[in-house]
Amino acid sequence: MHPQEIVDRALELSRSGLTDREVALKCGISVGALRHWRRGDRRAPDGRDRVTKAQCPRCHDRPLDGRAYAYLFGLYLGDGHIVRTGNRGVYRLEIYCDDGWPGIAAETAQAIAAVMPGLKVGRRQHQGCSGVGAYSKHWPCVFPQHGPGMKHTRRIALVEWQQAIVEEHAREFVRGLIHSDGCRCINRVRRPLKDGDRWYEYPRYLFKNASDDIRRLYTDALDRLGIAWKQNNVREISVARRDAVARLDEFVGPKY
Ligand SMILES: [Zn+2]
Repeated sequence: MHPQEIVDRALELSRSGLTDREVALKCGISVGALRHWRRGDRRAPDGRDRVTKAQCPRCHDRPLDGRAYAYLFGLYLGDGHIVRTGNRGVYRLEIYCDDGWPGIAAETAQAIAAVMPGLKVGRRQHQGCSGVGAYSKHWPCVFPQHGPGMKHTRRIALVEWQQAIVEEHAREFVRGLIHSDGCRCINRVRRPLKDGDRWYEYPRYLFKNASDDIRRLYTDALDRLGIAWKQNNVREISVARRDAVARLDEFVGPKY
């Protein structure tokens, strides 16, 4: 029996897009063994568990964690990508997380694991950010918005089951959107007075996205929560009223 490290390494190489022959050569195993492990037939060393494949909440009869989904969906619409890998039928979901906010990167990894239990969540370092992601054949089932080109160049419409989740978990959805394409920042306003200018500072939430559809999903969720917003400019939505900022502070807060 091969040690677990070899199994893990072989499966990872396989997911990364190498052919079975290449993986077999690199790891010194047979192609048959690799295929066997990929089917999830291998018993863990303690004999209890199996290398589990994630079950798809759409294709298989599996409950979906709505709270985690709403958050991950917000992240995906902001800074997420689904790409097809070289490995037949396998996709990688990747959420770009700014290196300045390690807490959000950790929360992203948790959300992926909660939505698709059994997947291995990994990180890839890019310039100034990491891609937190996982491989699965089922990402397009979970995020049917997947398609060619940038999100703002195509129509983003929710399917019925997503709409229901986003309505039930509007807070988590808004939190995911702000954690990816938004911020809580301090606005400084100058007020000219006779005896000199006076500066005022107040916190506000900004959300910036090039897609009209995604901005609409954000403002619809704010409306549902009774949180006042206004359009700052063509791409930016601002929440600045004191009571509205206080509401968002209850479940979003500054990035961390
Ligand atoms: Zn599926």
